[in-house]
Amino acid sequence: MDNNKDKPSFFSDSDDYNLKSEPEAPLSYSVRRRTAQQIRRDRMQAYAVMIIFGLIVIAAVIYFVASGNDSGEQAADSQSSAASQVESAADDPASSTETQSSAEADSSSGDTSPISEAQGHEVEVIDGRTYIDGILIVNKTYSLPQSYAPGLDSVAEDAFYDMAADAYGDGIVLYICSGYRSYEEQEQLYNNYATERGVEKADEVSSRPGHSEHQSGLCMDVNTTEFSFEGTPEAIWLEENCADYGFIIRFPEGKEDITGYTYEPWHIRYVGVEAAKEITSQGICLEEYLDVSSDYANAQQ
Ligand SMILES: [Zn+2]
Repeated sequence: MDNNKDKPSFFSDSDDYNLKSEPEAPLSYSVRRRTAQQIRRDRMQAYAVMIIFGLIVIAAVIYFVASGNDSGEQAADSQSSAASQVESAADDPASSTETQSSAEADSSSGDTSPISEAQGHEVEVIDGRTYIDGILIVNKTYSLPQSYAPGLDSVAEDAFYDMAADAYGDGIVLYICSGYRSYEEQEQLYNNYATERGVEKADEVSSRPGHSEHQSGLCMDVNTTEFSFEGTPEAIWLEENCADYGFIIRFPEGKEDITGYTYEPWHIRYVGVEAAKEITSQGICLEEYLDVSSDYANAQQ
């Protein structure tokens, strides 16, 4: 009993029992110790194997995640390029006679920097918008950022209503059929065309998102976007007088290859009175006035 008291309590019961009842207890004990050591060694080996296996698994996971990200980015890239092919925005639904092939322009790998254009003009790029001689240029070469959402420009709007008031005095009723259009609205419009008629046809009648002048808030479709507007008293009055209020017929007849758009007698763009009068009197389009192209192949995005 004294012995037992001297021993640490966790020894007492079982050790006492082994010593007293089994002579081979010490042997059995050492065997058990060895077995325990063996088990510990086995466990260590097992742990080592598990750790190595775990490291391999982690390495494999990292590898697959990394390569998965790559392909994910590629997928995202191709998605965005597909989206940018689809994104366009056109302008006016009714303009459908333009036959310029835009399939080639679809290759977004144009190396021509638009900035190399407009030689002799003052070019300023502000937050992704290009101003040439102070005029915001938006066409197939020059786009607007998706985030640019100014609404209808108040100066242009005031100029329109001044014009409409004077027109009304002449017995002509002018109103805004379509003014500001957001990037998203243009995207929807263009995508509808692309879905209905295919990308190539859509590019003939519609601008890709970011490329519609309507997103600038500086243009309007007057009264309609139907070709029946051509030759009406309203269309004639507009063409003869809009420059006095700072507007130009943005896509004039005979300039389709330069503007990239069909003649649209209803689509006017505010550029200010001085520029409008000069452009109109010279019988040129805005691209000629600013010495720039309008071609998706030249677009930077
Ligand atoms: Zn328009």
